[in-house]
Amino acid sequence: MPTDPTYLIVGASLCGAKAAETLREEGFGGRVILLGGEAERPYERPPLSKGYLLGKEDKSVIYVHEEGWYGGHDVDLRLGVTVTAVDPAGRTVTTADGESIGYDRLLLATGASPRRLTIPGADLEGVLYLRTVGDSERLADAFRGGGRVVTVGAGWIGLETTAAAREAGCEVTVVEPEPTALYRALGSELGEMFADLHREHGVRFRFGESVSELRGAGGRVGEVITSSGAAVSADIVVVGIGVVPNTGLASDAGLEVGNGVVADAALRTSDASIYVAGDLANSYHPLLGRRVRVEHWANALNSGPAAARSMLGQDVSYDPVPYFFSDQYDLGMETAGLPEPGTYDQVLYRGDRPGREFIAFWLAGGAVVAGMNVNVWDVSDDIQALIRSGKKVDPARLTDPDIPIAEV
Ligand SMILES: Cc1cc2nc3c(=O)[nH]c(=O)nc-3n(C[C@H](O)[C@H](O)[C@H](O)COP(=O)(O)OP(=O)(O)OC[C@H]3O[C@@H](n4cnc5c(N)ncnc54)[C@H](O)[C@@H]3O)c2cc1C
Repeated sequence: MPTDPTYLIVGASLCGAKAAETLREEGFGGRVILLGGEAERPYERPPLSKGYLLGKEDKSVIYVHEEGWYGGHDVDLRLGVTVTAVDPAGRTVTTADGESIGYDRLLLATGASPRRLTIPGADLEGVLYLRTVGDSERLADAFRGGGRVVTVGAGWIGLETTAAAREAGCEVTVVEPEPTALYRALGSELGEMFADLHREHGVRFRFGESVSELRGAGGRVGEVITSSGAAVSADIVVVGIGVVPNTGLASDAGLEVGNGVVADAALRTSDASIYVAGDLANSYHPLLGRRVRVEHWANALNSGPAAARSMLGQDVSYDPVPYFFSDQYDLGMETAGLPEPGTYDQVLYRGDRPGREFIAFWLAGGAVVAGMNVNVWDVSDDIQALIRSGKKVDPARLTDPDIPIAEV
């Protein structure tokens, strides 16, 4: 390796910025170049559907680092630079303005983009998505006047924006083909709790229906037609139907791609000099015994640093219990594990379910595979340890609020 190697990171968001930070913390003395397609310096996305969207948090809360941090740590941050090609054989990337940049090690952290609607009327004005800070500002403007909102998709983004729209005084109808809210993320039991929470706040749901057409006048959306033939009036349509990993660079470069960029537990791709992390990575997870691609903040926060250590030649086996959080109205929750339908056979609770101050545990074969604490705090680490242990638990002890989770 040359004396002054270049470690190049493509994607200047949470994951990429944390990777750059780790390279410096670990004493890497070579060049660190961080290329980002957006004009903003690296920022975190959770506030974009919560405090920042609601106008309760200042923009300053979103940034990963102070503006001067990059220069201060000799990280060559280049914003508004889109990488258009990676050449693994020549170890170079090409940018949209034709520049060629060489690397010794490359980290792909290009994240994901919102899945777009492809139905008739999808390009009408007033049809909005949420991924970037600009998207969040557009939504905040749109919600400000009140009006009728149709949210397409009852996933996390759809529900958080629905809560923000309601708090801004909009009428909201959510259209979702699954039987309840968050069905694919949490299963029906806890999904229904979120649906009820929103119903109590005046949200209408149309479950079991998809959106088949958007209609409007003068180029602006005015109506959403659902698969049942219903017509729902809409001044704004918010689309939250999931994200698609930005795999284009990797697949064009000949890397192994499949639901993201395929990697081993050390976050190495099929090319020995190229690593992947964050929403983009579909890496082997030793604890779960399969590859997973996790689209959560904590994964961006932790996998960037893990990839950086791996790039430095350290022995890395990235296997955290997946972790997610959400805030909607006065409900705050953390989820550990991936409680997708089909992965559990039982749900048990401790605490006050009607009062929404409880912990839900998803079990498979008597062992806890996931847990969600709802308006109960400082327990997620213990829940994660319980999941990691894989041990069979006594249901009576698990549901007894007087027994610390660590002692179940
Ligand atoms: C509104 C919103 C709210 C969220 N809330 C939560 C939450 O409450 N809890 C939670 O756990 N998770 C949440 N998430 C998910 C979390 O933000 C993501 O998991 C996280 O942003 C992933 O980080 P990343 O760095 O891997 O990718 P991204 O954040 O997608 O960043 C990738 C970056 O790479 C850039 N890029 C892409 N292609 C190129 C290219 N060719 N050249 C240069 N740059 C490129 C992109 O412009 C982008 O800036 C939320 C996401 C959104 C959108």
